[in-house]
Amino acid sequence: MPAAQKPPEKMMFQLNLRRRGISEQAVLRAMEEIPREMFVEPADRDSAYRDSALGIACGQTISQPFVVAYMTEQLQVQKGHNVLELGTGSGYQAAILSRLCRQVLTIERYRTLADRARRRLEKLGCDNVEVLLGDGLEISAIPGGQFDRIIVTAAIEQIPDALLERLQTGGILIAPVGPHRGTQTLIRTVRTEAGFERRNLVEVRFVPALPGIAREL
Ligand code: SAH
Repeated sequence: MPAAQKPPEKMMFQLNLRRRGISEQAVLRAMEEIPREMFVEPADRDSAYRDSALGIACGQTISQPFVVAYMTEQLQVQKGHNVLELGTGSGYQAAILSRLCRQVLTIERYRTLADRARRRLEKLGCDNVEVLLGDGLEISAIPGGQFDRIIVTAAIEQIPDALLERLQTGGILIAPVGPHRGTQTLIRTVRTEAGFERRNLVEVRFVPALPGIAREL
């Protein structure tokens, strides 16, 4: 769509991401192309391009657009990459990643959320995303060997060693680490030949990662 016809809220959305420091063109393009209004609750469609997290089904949240863009940029995803996401939620982060890499495997513990995300992603033609219903903390049950990139989008108190072991050498893992209540620190871990290099990025607030497949009413 030519810029002149773009709805003003979508222009502000892009402008805000740039203003806050997102500079990677491929990331900005993916954020522009994936319609966030498809991933929020119908009642929140008017707020879809505001830079805030929003509630979704099962008491969970779709992350703030800036945080999605920031985590994606920090992940330095490349075309050939195989990416693992723990915490599908709405499927929005997975949709963004799908534009930048070869394959995304995303895991969600709520069946309702996994089913809805799968449907949205199908509708958008994101056919390189697989949504699995399961417990992402049960790392030995995650199929697929090692990944080039791993993104955790629910708060964990520490990064499990078993998850780090699923990272390729040269791979990057990003996760919000800290207490379930309050704020966490986004930690970026790079696997090198010599071991793991950790760097603290920014403070964030995510819903907690909880064990087991969720029971739903
Ligand atoms: N990435 C999502 C937002 C994540 S919200 C988006 O783009 O919308 C965090 C999600 O992690 C929630 O949906 C929650 O149910 C899920 N979750 C929490 N613990 C989990 C676990 N052990 N395994 C898989 N998913 C989990």
